[in-house]
Amino acid sequence: MTPPPSRGTSRPAPARVVQVSPLLGLRNLGRGSFDYLPPDHGGDDLCVGSLVVVPFGRRLVDGVVTSLTSSNEVAPSRLKSIVSVGSQSLSTEMMELAEALAGHYLAPLGACFQAVVPTHRLASREGRPGRQVSWVAPIGDVLREGLTSRQSEVLAATPVEGAAVADLCARLHVSRTVVAALVEKGALTATMRSALHLDDEDHSSTATAGPRGLEGSEGGTGLDVAHDLSEEQARVVSALSDDLRLGGARERLLWGATGSGKTEIYLRILSEVLAAGGGGIVLVPEIALTVQLVERMRARLGNTVAVLHSALTPTLRAREFERIYQGRARIVVGARSAVFAPARDLRVIILDEAHDSSYKQDEEPRYDARWVARWLARRHGALLLEGTATPSVESLRPGIEPLEMHTRPTGANAPEVEVIDMRRQGGSGVLAPRAVAALRKTLVAGEQAVVLLNRRGYAAYLMCEECGEVVMCGDCEISLTYHRGSRVLACHHCGRRTAVPVVCPNCSAAALRRGSPGTERVVDELRGMVPQESLFRLDSDVVTSGARVSEILGRFRETTPAVLVGTQMVAKGHDYPLVTLVLVADADTGLYMPDFRAAERTFQLVTQVAGRAGRSQAPGQVLVQTWNPDVPCIRMAVAREGYRFYREELATRGRLGYPPYRELTRIVVSGAREEKVEAGGRHLAGKLRTVLEDVRGPARLPRIRGMGRRQIVVTDVDPERVRLVLERSLNRYRAPYARRGLDIMVDVDPQWFN
Ligand code: ADP
Ligand code: ZN
Repeated sequence: MTPPPSRGTSRPAPARVVQVSPLLGLRNLGRGSFDYLPPDHGGDDLCVGSLVVVPFGRRLVDGVVTSLTSSNEVAPSRLKSIVSVGSQSLSTEMMELAEALAGHYLAPLGACFQAVVPTHRLASREGRPGRQVSWVAPIGDVLREGLTSRQSEVLAATPVEGAAVADLCARLHVSRTVVAALVEKGALTATMRSALHLDDEDHSSTATAGPRGLEGSEGGTGLDVAHDLSEEQARVVSALSDDLRLGGARERLLWGATGSGKTEIYLRILSEVLAAGGGGIVLVPEIALTVQLVERMRARLGNTVAVLHSALTPTLRAREFERIYQGRARIVVGARSAVFAPARDLRVIILDEAHDSSYKQDEEPRYDARWVARWLARRHGALLLEGTATPSVESLRPGIEPLEMHTRPTGANAPEVEVIDMRRQGGSGVLAPRAVAALRKTLVAGEQAVVLLNRRGYAAYLMCEECGEVVMCGDCEISLTYHRGSRVLACHHCGRRTAVPVVCPNCSAAALRRGSPGTERVVDELRGMVPQESLFRLDSDVVTSGARVSEILGRFRETTPAVLVGTQMVAKGHDYPLVTLVLVADADTGLYMPDFRAAERTFQLVTQVAGRAGRSQAPGQVLVQTWNPDVPCIRMAVAREGYRFYREELATRGRLGYPPYRELTRIVVSGAREEKVEAGGRHLAGKLRTVLEDVRGPARLPRIRGMGRRQIVVTDVDPERVRLVLERSLNRYRAPYARRGLDIMVDVDPQWFN
């Protein structure tokens, strides 16, 4: 109802007020939006979802319009105006998704918007010169003389139609000066081009050119040939086709042993979706480690596959995104954040290696792509297909009937698995004599071996032989890892690097002993036995980019005999037919982590890496070194007692009140002053205990980057109630805590407790 105008005075027209959520990850902003006035000029087409730039504090920041109102209450003079309005706006669906994320994960709304809005569409990016890219193309008959070898290489790799300089440099790992020299020498011409409106022809030679080292490596290997389905595969495909035909939101778990041919299933389902005019999203844990999958998809499905990965330059990323948005690419393959890609007519979302914890983001917003995928599948009435050889215990919750595949369609038998009980082994090396013998045999036979040690560096700690002191990071309560190659001690938490002390820094009396060997040490041990060019290492120390991974794996694939040593990176979905031996150097690395998923992760890692052996005709062998052969998760992984492992683990979870029976939320109070952190942790836990049933902690966590930390874990059978309580508590305590120098971090459905 409008009040009658009061007589005599002319009331001012109500002000148009715009609520904007600034795209900032600040926790204390919570779900808040802020009032602004429309821009001084234009702004007629402002709507909910408009991308804008607003003044915030002393800065200009990007924002999203969350609502528009008219108000008599605000004094317009006290509000600032929107600075500019972008030409793009967020769809209703993406608005709802951001709100849902903020609600479910108790995450700052601004950070959630940041996750769903692609960077290149932000209002602040519009009209920037960055939309033009420098483009080079070869000039017909040029003299190839007078070029350095690097220059010739770049020239040879430049497609006839040309390429964006940034892409070329990124792809070939060269600096712009090399390209500039070629222009200077008249071998290339340089022009400017609009970045986003390059057509698909250009695209196929640049954007889809994956990390280097892959192109061509698959040439003529028949990647584009569809296999005749095995009986098991046919059964699965038929069940999934029925799901697609019936339509509606559905969730399926495909529990297929390693090598059972899950990729072929994905390809069939995607072809079916494409034939019906639909689109799909395929998520993988890490693109670099799943290059083969991507290659097979492109080979079979063609240019309709868009790939989003971290090695893409911002321009290429934007271009892939626009192809998806315009419907020119209908299948999106990518890691976690690709779940936000705007695939048209979404019919299927496939989560490969669905158990992988990297689907959870470790910073605000702490979302899980699996949760987002489920949300989208429900919203679109699409099929959600989770594929894995080692499901998470949660995904096998009672009532779920997985589609199962047990055999390898290539006819290969599952490898033979044997335990090496380290308590009964002589020798001082990381590898037991039995393991060394098996490795020798593999090398002599001209075959390949994979050695898994889930710990990088040379030694996880240095300890004084006299006083027992372990050299720790000055900022974190974590031992420093000895890296022999780079001759430093490094903190694997904060990255701090220091020189290696000659004697104990504590007592100066004795030398330091190296404890807990890592991948570097294994490589060292193997040097005498394996020729230099046959020895490969894959861990995050040698892998500086996605391209590096592909390069290492590409070379390994083509070398015989060869040994690949690495961390869990070597356990993921690779398919290397010549690997006949898999060695797990230490199955116990993850066993005693303070994490209720420790047993599950150990089981998964051993099972996954074992699956890398014996993929083709040559029989495979797996050797598992452990000090704990009787620990159930190791015993059952070795004996391939999957059903039993999951049954027993589910029973334990039920007993202890862990997922899937209860949802878990972790709260970490942190700050520089230890006594304040302690008091803050206790106070918050006490307050929560008055309203919630199961509040565990506060427990002390190791100091990280100089910050003391206390962890509180909350579980409840009614997660909505927990969310409500926590949201209220956060609103109430965050500001006073901040004034005492304390931060409160909340992680709903956490994957890590460190
Ligand atoms: P997973 O992802 O389940 O570990 P892959 O999809 O990588 O397994 O398949 C393992 C191997 O089996 C691949 O080399 C693949 O080409 C091959 N393969 C898959 N399906 C068939 C089939 N029906 N007939 C023959 N070979 C197949
Ligand atoms: Zn540190």
